Amino acid sequence: MEYYENVIELIGRTPIVKLGTLGADLSVPVLAKVEYFNPGGSVKDRICLRMVEEAERAGRIGPGGTIVEPTSGNTGVGLAIVAQRRGYRCIFVCPDKVSEDKRNVLKAYGAEVVVCPTAVPPEHPDSYYSVSDRLVKEIPGAWKPDQYSNPANPRSHYETTGPELWEQTGGGITHFVAGIGTGGTISGTGRYLKEVSGGQVRVIGVDPEGSVYSGGSGRPYLVEGVGEDFWPETYDRNICDEIVAISDHDSFHFTRRLAREEGLLVGGSCGMAVAGALQVAERAGPDDVVVVLLPDSGRGYMSKIFDDSWMMSYGFLSPEEGTTVGDVIR
Ligand code: PMP
Repeated sequence: MEYYENVIELIGRTPIVKLGTLGADLSVPVLAKVEYFNPGGSVKDRICLRMVEEAERAGRIGPGGTIVEPTSGNTGVGLAIVAQRRGYRCIFVCPDKVSEDKRNVLKAYGAEVVVCPTAVPPEHPDSYYSVSDRLVKEIPGAWKPDQYSNPANPRSHYETTGPELWEQTGGGITHFVAGIGTGGTISGTGRYLKEVSGGQVRVIGVDPEGSVYSGGSGRPYLVEGVGEDFWPETYDRNICDEIVAISDHDSFHFTRRLAREEGLLVGGSCGMAVAGALQVAERAGPDDVVVVLLPDSGRGYMSKIFDDSWMMSYGFLSPEEGTTVGDVIR
């Protein structure tokens, strides 16, 4: 018999897959590390496991403990899975703009969800930041992982994602491309790859146009999970050799092409990262190997990126480009 003791053991060791048609005109391979193979469906499972393990070691959480985090997405799922195994209670605080579908996913894993008004400033007592801070103070044994300042976030990538990529490419990787949200992925993976290669691997961050990492002020963009309007502690400002800014339009078009042409149903930050990786690959040398990290699955974006009317309402798709509309008429 061969089996895993529980789903936690399935975190990490995700495969890399070569892009086919999307990379067809290129002289170098573009390899995608597909993080939706993690049990919670995203790269965030990695950091959640490490953040909880390190908090346990440091005595910040123990039997009967409660995890409180302001999150509505992938980090919530990762924390819920790890918490469930360890018998911890989970409370996630999110703004009311977060879709019911996303909240229900967290509840399905047994987490509690507290919803706060979106239309209040962060310092307001009802904002989701204030509410999560208050809950941590009020609930005995509560702990807030805070993925934006927790060093276990980049460290998990230094210890897992980086070594996996070095091993999977047989030390052949020359360029690592990833989107930047908390900066944990690029900082931890990038640092490992630079150290192990003696500084030979180039690290390229991809950012939505308007976000601070590519020189913006935090102007709103629609791609989720990447870009910030502040500089998180988890981002190492010295790690990127280059930062490429990508528009929402291009992020979403590449996201849709990944599903249609590569069979990879992935999220919007994946399309963004691939758009950046293809630019990098176009200027790469003959012996280069470009690796791009795809953080999550496309299942959470069906009513947005994969919905023609949503795409058209933002001007990302013209009526002629739409598929479902035409399919019905024909
Ligand atoms: N894409 C998605 C969908 C994410 O949820 C995140 C995490 N915020 C990222 C990309 C960026 O990863 P990181 O926080 O490690 O920079």
